[in-house]
Amino acid sequence: MAHILAEARTPLDTATNPSPAPQAARANAIEARGLRKVYRASGGQPEKEALKGVDLAVPRGSIFGLLGPNGAGKSTFINILAGLVVKSSGKANIWGFDIDENPRQARASIGVVPQELNIDPFFTPAEILELQAGLYGVPKRERRTMEILKAVALDDKAEAYARTLSGGMRRRLLVAKAMVHNPPVLVLDEPTAGVDIELRKQLWDYVKALNEAGTTIVLTTHYLEEAEALCDTIAIIDKGRLVACEPTQRLVARITDKKLIIRSAWPVTPVMAAIDGLRTEITPSGALSVQYNPLEAGAMEILDRVRASGIEIVDISTEESDLEDVFLQLTSSH
Ligand code: ADP
Ligand code: MG
Repeated sequence: MAHILAEARTPLDTATNPSPAPQAARANAIEARGLRKVYRASGGQPEKEALKGVDLAVPRGSIFGLLGPNGAGKSTFINILAGLVVKSSGKANIWGFDIDENPRQARASIGVVPQELNIDPFFTPAEILELQAGLYGVPKRERRTMEILKAVALDDKAEAYARTLSGGMRRRLLVAKAMVHNPPVLVLDEPTAGVDIELRKQLWDYVKALNEAGTTIVLTTHYLEEAEALCDTIAIIDKGRLVACEPTQRLVARITDKKLIIRSAWPVTPVMAAIDGLRTEITPSGALSVQYNPLEAGAMEILDRVRASGIEIVDISTEESDLEDVFLQLTSSH
């Protein structure tokens, strides 16, 4: 696999001389500014603002996670970059190529593995890659169909009808298809939906190898754990807005937050719960829950402050705050 990945990371050697990208754009593989998408009302569905002005930069060389619940706008974002969805407003560039001003080079710079496993069942993997290469104007002598199929462990299926491939094989075929024009940026939209654990691991190993050989990877997922395991930077999108974008380590530090559940002699009221400088909540049973980061504050200090606010503590327990809590915390203020 290494030799096919070690090729120069320029989009399409055959592309017409691209105009030089602005210097500022060069550090980033993808840049979006104020990206907005409104889907028109149709078939009884009301108009939908799927992206509400997203600013985002994906550093070159990273494995970047775009994380968000279903309907957040992840695929819309990806599909605008891929040229499959027309944005309503805003700017975007890929590898320094503006998607409006240099659509051809922008598109040549990105390979997208779509969320849906739509593969023409009557073509073979080899045919599908050849067709795709033709679509991207890769000359016959530069095509590497068998090498790419080998890289995704489908070389023995090169001549099999696509309809006979399993879900995992189809996913790998779509990865191969996205790579035929050797793009410097590879985007995988929810790549593990319907992929079993063994194949998931294989897919991640392959993605990591591609990244080590220089390909910038963007993956969308609604699993925080998946993004955490793979990505060096994680952006969180919710209801069409970006709510976080930071190095995974820093995001994970928030995930190490703990919770103190404090029962008082009387049910805690919102007024009592509003304690300066503490992240508090009232549990359904009327206890006070305080979220804190053990690296920043000790439980004793927190208990002192709770007591000082007049709450009479009768019982204490602790809870790890789970990923879902952090996610809610990040997305609830928008
Ligand atoms: P995600 O990939 O994060 O699940 P999507 O980008 O697919 O989110 O969808 C964002 C929102 O836009 C959702 O509310 C979805 O229903 C809506 N949407 C997506 N595609 C279309 C479309 N073609 N027409 C109308 N609404 C759409
Ligand atoms: Mg999606």
